[in-house]
Amino acid sequence: MKKELTEGQKLAEEILMQNKNGALTMDAAELAKADAFAEDYKRFLDASKTEREAVKVAVALAEEKGFVPFEAGVKYPSGAKVYAVNREKALILAVVGSQPIEEGVRLSAAHIDSPRLDLKPRPLYEDSELALFKTHYYGGIKKYQWTTIPLALHGVVVKRDGSKITITVGENPNDPAFCITDLLPHLADDQMKRTLEEGIKGEELNILIGSRPFCDDEVSKKVKLNIMKILSEKYGITEADLLSAELEAVPAFSARDIGFDRSMVGAYGQDDRVCAYTALRATLDCESPKQTLVTVLADKEETGSHGNTGMQSAFLRYFISDLAAPYGVAGRTVLSHTTCLSADVNAAFDPTFADVSERQNASYLNYGVVITKYTGAWGKSGTSDASAEYAGAIRSILDRHHVIWQTGELGKVDQGGGGTVAAYIADLNVDVIDLGVPVLSMHAPFEVTSKIDIYMAYRAFTAFSVD
Ligand code: MN
Ligand code: MN
Repeated sequence: MKKELTEGQKLAEEILMQNKNGALTMDAAELAKADAFAEDYKRFLDASKTEREAVKVAVALAEEKGFVPFEAGVKYPSGAKVYAVNREKALILAVVGSQPIEEGVRLSAAHIDSPRLDLKPRPLYEDSELALFKTHYYGGIKKYQWTTIPLALHGVVVKRDGSKITITVGENPNDPAFCITDLLPHLADDQMKRTLEEGIKGEELNILIGSRPFCDDEVSKKVKLNIMKILSEKYGITEADLLSAELEAVPAFSARDIGFDRSMVGAYGQDDRVCAYTALRATLDCESPKQTLVTVLADKEETGSHGNTGMQSAFLRYFISDLAAPYGVAGRTVLSHTTCLSADVNAAFDPTFADVSERQNASYLNYGVVITKYTGAWGKSGTSDASAEYAGAIRSILDRHHVIWQTGELGKVDQGGGGTVAAYIADLNVDVIDLGVPVLSMHAPFEVTSKIDIYMAYRAFTAFSVD
C-alpha cells in the first residue's frame, strides 16, 4: 500500500528543487537509446582524434544527410542544409528555417580541438643513439599524465611544392606506436621531490621514435638518419618538410565502455568532442526548424580561441553575413536576435577530489546535461554570465522537452576555473549560455563521461533546435 504524503513532503515536492540520478527517472527504452547512442559516439571519437579528422568525419556524416557546400550569394529556401569548412579545421553547418532570417538563428558552438602534444617545427634529434621528437604541448595538460602511454601521430606535412601528405600512424594494431619515457622509481629520488607540476617538465616531453642506426661509419647521427630515411621512403618527405607540418601526438588507445555496468565512456578528447558530436547529431537529425539552425565546430578553444580557425576569428560573423545578405538582411541584425548554446564540458564531481568542488553547485555524472551560467575564475573574471532571462528561457525549453539537466559551476569559489567560447559569442551581441556534459579526468589522455549525460546533451541540442 502506498503511504500518503505528509504535508511537508507534498510541500517539498512542490517548491524544492528535485535532482535525481537520470537512471532513476528514465525508462528502459530510453536507457537503451542512450546506450545505443554511445556506440555511435565511440566510433566518432576513434575516427576524430584531431580537429582535421573531426571536420572530415562531420562533413561525411552531413553529406549523407543531404548537406551541400555553402555558397555565398545564394538565397537558400527553408529546409536547405549547407556546410562551410574553414581551413580543414573548423566547420559550420546550417539548416535554413521557416522563419525569416532577421529573427535570428539558433546557434550551437562546440570545439573539436583537444589537449595534445604538437611536434616542434624542428622536432627530430638523436641523443645517445636514440631518436626522439621534441614537442610543445597544446592546451592545459598535467604533463606527467602523458608519459609511458602509447601515442599515435596524426597530421599533415606540406612539402616545398605545396603537396600535402596526411599521416596517421599508431592507431592500427599493426602500426608502430610511440611513447614518452619516464624515470624508474629506483632512480627517481630527486624527481620525486619536484612538485607535481614540475614532475615532468615541458622539455621532457620527448617522444621516442627509434633506436636502430643506419650502417655507415662516415655519418654521425646514424639513428636519426635511419628514421628520416624511413619517413622519406614512406611519405616522400625530408627533415625540412617537418617545418611546414602539423603533427599531433595523441593517445593511441580507443574509446571504451567503463564500469561493470558499462554506464560510462572512457576515451581521449571527449572535451569537447562529446558536445561536438551531440550537437552535430542533433543538427543532422533536424529536418525543418522554425528558426535557422547554425552549428559551429570550432578549433583552437584549448589555446584561447585565437587564430583564424578559432571562435575569435570572423569566420562565424562572415558566414552569418553571407547567409543573410541574399535576403537583404545585415549580419548584425541576425546576430542581435540570435540565441546560442555554447556547448562545452563541465568538471564532474569526483569523490576522490571532493574538496575542489562545492557540492551544491557541482555537476554529477548521470544527472544529465549541465547548464553552466558562468565560467571564469577569481570573481567570475573572463566570463560571459548568462542573464536570468536567457537562463530561464533555456531552462524552460529543456523542461518542455523532458531533458534531464542539472546546473554546474567549474569548481568552488577561488579554486581556479576556466573559460569557453561563450564570451566570444556574447561579444557578437548574442544571448549565450554554456551547456554540456560533465567529465571526469578532464584534459587527461583518458577522460570519462556518462552515457546518460551524453544522450541528454543530444536531447538538449535537439530540443533547442526544434523548440
Ligand atoms: Mn572544452
Ligand atoms: Mn578544455
